[in-house]
Amino acid sequence: MSSPSRFIAPGATLGVMGGGQLGRMFVHAAQQMGYFTAVLDPDPASPAGLVAHYHVQSEYLDEQGLAQLMQRSAAITTEFENVPAAALVTLGAHRPVSPSADAVAVCQDRAREKLHFTRCGVPCAAFAVIEDGQQLAAVSTSLLPGILKTSRLGYDGKGQARVADRAELAAAWATMKGVPCVLEQRLNLAAEISVIVARGADGSMVHLPVQRNLHRDGILAVTTVPADLDQSLEAQAIANAERIAESLAYVGVLCVEFFVLADGSLVANEMAPRPHNSGHYSIDACDVSQFELQVRALTGAPLPAPRLHSPAIMLNLLGDLWYDVSGAVVEPDWAAVLGLTGAHLHLYGKAQPRRGRKMGHLTVTGATAEGVRRVALEAAGMLGIEAF
Ligand code: ATP
Ligand code: MG
Repeated sequence: MSSPSRFIAPGATLGVMGGGQLGRMFVHAAQQMGYFTAVLDPDPASPAGLVAHYHVQSEYLDEQGLAQLMQRSAAITTEFENVPAAALVTLGAHRPVSPSADAVAVCQDRAREKLHFTRCGVPCAAFAVIEDGQQLAAVSTSLLPGILKTSRLGYDGKGQARVADRAELAAAWATMKGVPCVLEQRLNLAAEISVIVARGADGSMVHLPVQRNLHRDGILAVTTVPADLDQSLEAQAIANAERIAESLAYVGVLCVEFFVLADGSLVANEMAPRPHNSGHYSIDACDVSQFELQVRALTGAPLPAPRLHSPAIMLNLLGDLWYDVSGAVVEPDWAAVLGLTGAHLHLYGKAQPRRGRKMGHLTVTGATAEGVRRVALEAAGMLGIEAF
């Protein structure tokens, strides 16, 4: 039952596990196309729960909650990779679920993810799995300086520590309470990029243009499209992302993050079994957004190749922007931002701004890349985002 065998037409209800901003934008896309929507999330004020037709307010493994979601939904997707794989297995036994529990399970675990890259012939940073003291002791010094990352549940740079030597590595692993980790060699990055592909149950595949990403403190800050990279490098990134999706027999939207190294080579960083923050620009700058692709893949609709109709820069709006110098919460001057030509404001309906919390994003589109950059820098200046 795991992928739709026939087209699920508008009028049906689509379910989503998780009520964050990605679920919210999925719900918006589904509703625009005439679907009803159901969201499962324990938070009574979750961004997606607030806008869906039905909000099942339960924990992800709660049997009654899962049963309610299934009862409502003709097909179910997920908006974050940390949904327990067991929940997707339960749902997948009764309803089309995409991506499948198996594919999500690979993405949930950094060690499995890297083994999958290797199996596909896609290079990634040299790494070692650390699950016990012996493996810690056996780590090759060639991986240092490195980054220690928890194998599971990391996001936005959380669950990571930069370590210079063995002593720091041991201390960082102890701070992480000895949970399974991956130690990666720290690479010299010339650029970060990502590729979003959508694959249908029939094996058809399309991709968004390659995105160039700027991270600050481990969190995505700015995405620029076109990425303005060497064409052969972009083609290589797309081919690698497609190979990864293909070999997972993936159905749905998949994002693969890559590093471009100083010598021009490309290595895969990680992947997400869902739409991705770096693809938000597609809502305003492409004729088919990553969220519409998610709806189409889930319902068995055809997957048209998205066309970028405008260059775009996306700025993430983190909770930090809500704090003034004295630490008081002050709403940013949206009226000023909305006065900028080509600025598209997306806010996720989160009541509490917290530092590092993704509250929304702003996409600037325009006729030329230079014009977009000028307006995006102006917006950044107004909002207190560091120039890029
Ligand atoms: P996400 O929010 O994308 O899920 P995450 O917490 O899973 O983030 P990563 O993507 O692994 O974290 O790393 C976050 C950022 O840290 C990367 O985008 C990159 O800037 C930096 N980084 C990660 N691994 C390395 C590495 N091996 N060498 C150099 N920089 C790295
Ligand atoms: Mg990442």
